[in-house]
Amino acid sequence: MRYRWPGEYRSAVVLSFDFDAESGFLFREPEKAKRSLADLEERRFGPRVGVDRILRLLDRLRLRATFFIPGWTVEHHLPESTRIRDAGHEIGAHGNVHEAVAFLDRPAEEKIMREQLAILEGALGVKPAGYRSPSWDVNVWTPDILKAHGFLYDSSLMGNDVPYELETSAGPLVEVPVQWLLDDAPLFRHVYGATNAIADPGRVLQMWQKEFDAMHAEHGCFVLTCHPFISGRASRIALLEELVGHMRRVPGVWFTTCEEVARWHATNERRS
Ligand SMILES: [Zn+2]
Repeated sequence: MRYRWPGEYRSAVVLSFDFDAESGFLFREPEKAKRSLADLEERRFGPRVGVDRILRLLDRLRLRATFFIPGWTVEHHLPESTRIRDAGHEIGAHGNVHEAVAFLDRPAEEKIMREQLAILEGALGVKPAGYRSPSWDVNVWTPDILKAHGFLYDSSLMGNDVPYELETSAGPLVEVPVQWLLDDAPLFRHVYGATNAIADPGRVLQMWQKEFDAMHAEHGCFVLTCHPFISGRASRIALLEELVGHMRRVPGVWFTTCEEVARWHATNERRS
């Protein structure tokens, strides 16, 4: 077997949600964010509607998911962040104001790391096991910073489709890999000037099912990344429900969280 999962499992599935709200827009376009109510409201759909719709979906499906939340979002949308925590889902770090770290030098990145951890701990009592970089942007020194701050894993890179390890000066850091194909943003987000049109949920369902079927055959780790302000829309919640229904008809799938995948990888002999 290419990768050994626990017990009789042949592949793993993680539903992950990056609860950005307005944070990414505030970091990338701070001047526009002072006047564009339109852009702010598009993103406020996440905390106002999307998060609770996703929580109801996960409750119906009896699934635990992983939510990555920037510090700014925890502070400004504390009731929603608290409901995510109280529903028993994993919470991981996701920057402070969704800073793309390509714009940061190492001291700035370390300062922001300390700030986001202080907010997660102070506001939610959460010490996260995992980190997902905003916009999946990672510097060569980022794994060292994560290891130094006690993280078990990162989930921002595309170097494999099963868990793997990043070397740091203090030992290995587990990577729970992502990929563009399994991200809702390039498929569903409307961006003026972009070449892609908004995708038909039926086509996305078919694409994600095909990717799941093929990854299951390859004993892969299917990590889906969705955003409440994008996938909280009604037809996309229905799509996620259909997708999980499809995956549940296949025997041997471990529905789990990023943290459980990382703990499995860190503590077990995976390869036969
Ligand atoms: Zn994000």
